[in-house]
Amino acid sequence: MSGQLAGQVAIITGGSRGIGREMALLFAREGADIAFCHLDDEAGAAEVAGGIAALGRRAFHRSVDVADSDGLRGFIRDAEAALGPCDVLCSNAGMNLRGPFETLPDEHFDRVIAVHVKAAWVSAKAVWDGMAARGRGRIIVTASQLAFKGGIGIVPYVTAKAALVGFVRALSREGAPKGILVNAIAPGPVTTDLTAQLGEGWAERTGAGLPIGRVGKPAEIAAAALLLASSPGGDFFVGATISPNGGDVMH
Ligand code: NAD
Repeated sequence: MSGQLAGQVAIITGGSRGIGREMALLFAREGADIAFCHLDDEAGAAEVAGGIAALGRRAFHRSVDVADSDGLRGFIRDAEAALGPCDVLCSNAGMNLRGPFETLPDEHFDRVIAVHVKAAWVSAKAVWDGMAARGRGRIIVTASQLAFKGGIGIVPYVTAKAALVGFVRALSREGAPKGILVNAIAPGPVTTDLTAQLGEGWAERTGAGLPIGRVGKPAEIAAAALLLASSPGGDFFVGATISPNGGDVMH
């Protein structure tokens, strides 16, 4: 199927590489104009914007720290001014600060919560009234299967991702009557720059422990986002957290 998002506008945080890059290019392939932000990755952003343009769609992008609430609101306001009202918001930007609980400073906890949880709150608020007025919108949050599985040395990250599962469960109840469908994706391990930090052999070791025998690809997560963004595929998902994860966590 093609043209599933024809004429729509998608705003994606963290769209310059990894999972967000694949969402941007897939959504553009399906007919959407794309606004995305990133953090100090102008080269990646230019490459993604070029890919969107090559697909005949418009791109708008900016470096902004999603933990800077005013900056994030300004990006969304300017993106809508440039491309039109947001039909699909993907709150996807993310990072991790790792370390044993005993030694991780409060500042790291605050930072991880701000980048994932506060930014999801701020970005959803920024598009909410417009979506409600139009009676239609999709909000898709990138959580993580680690919300269910936990992990060593990543207490702030797991806390943030689990909070996002609760966030979509609560917000979706307010959104559905207004036509705004709010859901999350909880990916399993995927090869991106984020997981490249985990060192040589991570993908092989981790993949070997999964029923499917390999780690995931960003395009496989973007496909789940398209399902939630599209119609009729996404029409009956409300407050769900769907988890493409190679069988690592089954629920
Ligand atoms: P990545 O490092 O490849 O890309 C992250 C993107 O987010 C980049 O565009 C980066 O510029 C942007 N970004 C990071 N911090 C930002 C900030 N403060 N402000 C604005 N932009 C920022 O990472 P990825 O693996 O593609 O991760 C995307 C999302 O998927 C994240 O929320 C991550 O937690 C989640 N996730 C990843 C995996 C995985 O295995 N890779 C698994 C589960 C969930």
